[in-house]
Amino acid sequence: RTVYVNGEYVPENEAKISVFDRGFLMADGVYEVTSVLEGKLVDFDGHAKRLERSLKELDMAAPVTTDELLAIHRELIARNDLTEGGIYLQITRGAPADRDFAFPDPAETPSSLVLFTQQKNLANAPAANTGIKVISIEDIRWGRRDIKTVQLLYPSMGKMMAKKAGADDAWMVEDGQVTEGTSNNAYIVKGGKIITRQLSNDILHGITRAAVLRLAKEAQMEVEERGFTIEEAQDADEAFVTSATTFVQPVVQIDDATIGTGTPGPIAKRLREIYIDESLKKAI
Ligand code: PMP
Repeated sequence: RTVYVNGEYVPENEAKISVFDRGFLMADGVYEVTSVLEGKLVDFDGHAKRLERSLKELDMAAPVTTDELLAIHRELIARNDLTEGGIYLQITRGAPADRDFAFPDPAETPSSLVLFTQQKNLANAPAANTGIKVISIEDIRWGRRDIKTVQLLYPSMGKMMAKKAGADDAWMVEDGQVTEGTSNNAYIVKGGKIITRQLSNDILHGITRAAVLRLAKEAQMEVEERGFTIEEAQDADEAFVTSATTFVQPVVQIDDATIGTGTPGPIAKRLREIYIDESLKKAI
């Protein structure tokens, strides 16, 4: 596999980043994952805009322009013959001369840019047909979850807690209400209405979430943006999650409760179809 590191395309085993890089020492960095279908990028614009916002919120400079970023994505797709999967992009605050809590002067310490590709079945992922099981866990992450930082230790722990419990993922709960999944936004459906938590600093503003809510409204489905409890979710007709690489993924069990009939619900299935359809049409 060819990866991109700070201006160069290199074989993955030759790629190098300094041990002083603040991404490595302090999780001082942001990332994006853009999915690829039929060799093309899904919603590149949405991911580029969120990246810009994450960088701004952390007072970090963009190492290249958005046009250059697009060119790098396309070059990696071509070099790795990527047809379906994702492109991971990471920008960290670079490698200052020494370890220090204060941010280094960006003129002296340029940020680091890394991209790599991951070939994966997305449109025909088996979990879309079976649905996934989630457990609920307390959300103990920091207060700026709207910034897509590489600080992913707690979400990783959440996935491990799910795995140990025989489930696939975890929904995080704060003040009695579901914030989001460890790597996705969470939804329930009740009486035909799609319910998902409103945007704030408490959750990541999912690019897939924005597209799915727009598509749902265009299809005359009712959408309500508000928080919900695990009990309300367990009593819902359907549940699902969204993310760039899983699209719309049905949830069929929450803790010990089966959701609906225990199989993917009609609204989740329909939204998945519409989303993939539109993504294929609009991919660049
Ligand atoms: N929430 C969290 C915590 C995530 O990690 C992700 C995946 N990046 C999402 C939501 C979904 O965001 P997106 O649709 O942009 O992939």
